[in-house]
Amino acid sequence: MAARSMQQWACIAAACAALGVGSVSAIAANAPAKPLPLAPVTPDITLPTPPSTRQVAAPVAAVKQSSEITNFTLENGLQVVVLSVPHSPVVTHMVWYRVGAKDDVAGKSGLAHFVEHMLFQGTKNQKPGEFSRVVERLGGEHNAFTSPDVTAYHVHIAARHLPEIMKREADRMQNMNPPPEAFAKEREVILEERRQQVETDPGARLREEMDAALFLHHPYRTPVIGWQAEMETLNQPDVQAFYAAHYAPNNAVLVLAGGITEATARELAQQYYGAIPKRELPAAVQWVEPTSKANQKLEYRDAQTKRPSYMMSWQVPSIGQDGVKKALPYFVLSALLGESKSSRMFQELVVRDKLATMAGSNYVGMSMGPGRFVVWAVPTDADAAAKNMATRLRLEQAVDVQLANIARYGVKGSELERTRTQLKASAIYAMDGVKGAATLLGQLVMLGLPPTYLSQWPADIDAVSAKQIQEAAADLLARRRVSGWLLPEQNTAGGQR
Ligand SMILES: [Zn+2]
Repeated sequence: MAARSMQQWACIAAACAALGVGSVSAIAANAPAKPLPLAPVTPDITLPTPPSTRQVAAPVAAVKQSSEITNFTLENGLQVVVLSVPHSPVVTHMVWYRVGAKDDVAGKSGLAHFVEHMLFQGTKNQKPGEFSRVVERLGGEHNAFTSPDVTAYHVHIAARHLPEIMKREADRMQNMNPPPEAFAKEREVILEERRQQVETDPGARLREEMDAALFLHHPYRTPVIGWQAEMETLNQPDVQAFYAAHYAPNNAVLVLAGGITEATARELAQQYYGAIPKRELPAAVQWVEPTSKANQKLEYRDAQTKRPSYMMSWQVPSIGQDGVKKALPYFVLSALLGESKSSRMFQELVVRDKLATMAGSNYVGMSMGPGRFVVWAVPTDADAAAKNMATRLRLEQAVDVQLANIARYGVKGSELERTRTQLKASAIYAMDGVKGAATLLGQLVMLGLPPTYLSQWPADIDAVSAKQIQEAAADLLARRRVSGWLLPEQNTAGGQR
């Protein structure tokens, strides 16, 4: 069934992308319909060429003129965000729940994601798979993803079919009821998802272990998809209890983007969601990461690995935990350091020194818990890097020098200007199309920002000073780090470390 496989595709991508809470630029780099990236960037991505200021100006103006964002809350606590795009024939309907893998019950990793799957397996009023079949019959697309922080369900459909979708999505908010046999069947689906996306991908396995090392205590140390042995135990009572605890209007945000007016949105939201009773929610857990000074270095050799690659990650401030102001310098630092072909890491490690064939950075700052900053590089001489520790150390040091240079000497004005342009553009591109807009708006609201925050983003980016970027680089160098090498299996004939 096509619709089912689409949902599964989304899921697979979500698990692979690991967390769903990426940076604004990371979102922009992806097609809007895709779930948000979760894990650090994989070393084999290609870096975009940044747009010019002139290229950015036109879409900014278009967004300002053609759309309007409103925000209201129903009596049962359901928050509704509406982006009206006049003349758009389609609407994106997205329900975001404030529950994700970080809320998995102890010993039941992967539960939030399993619940996401089970929501497609029937309610008191809809048969297993019916939701997907109806969306498909009406010519729409749908999708869902689970991140460490949130679970979101997304339908993109002709505006005239919106009431039908709202009726069915509201039903899923309160009446999930899959037949008993569906649980074991769907458990096989998520286990297969793990096999395909993690077990057969050495890079994904290393990233999992690096996260488990980076977060000492916070549940971000556990993969969204779950650990296999615990996934095998997930059952019907687990799913029903988790659903009953977290799926409620007062724990959700409905985002409507596209050809709908605020008045119609209010009317429909009230009609379909208004009668769902509010529920008492579990108390929010406040995890506090202990301080640690122990750096960790992982080395993972795997027969499937052809090219060595290097990654390093740090826990850093995030928007959700520390507020936008504290997170902003890291967005700029990452863009300047390694998010495009004009960035420092690419220009110096790849183009000038030819030490790496690819190098870059990523800041995962749009998270509710601690943020994470990642840098990575793929050594040019794969053979030497696989065999010689000295070759690997040279690349590690070259990466450190990139940060040290910024910490010591700061950044050039022209470089900062170019980076700001690139970052302002990324938000605009993420808003391109109603699907992308709905995703970004939902993310902002989940992080406690107003849905109109995006209009503030350019000014906030411009306000980040060269000194703040310098401080952010120095901050990274001073923090505990977790680094990892992915290497081909050791060749015993002449292989040496
Ligand atoms: Zn899935």
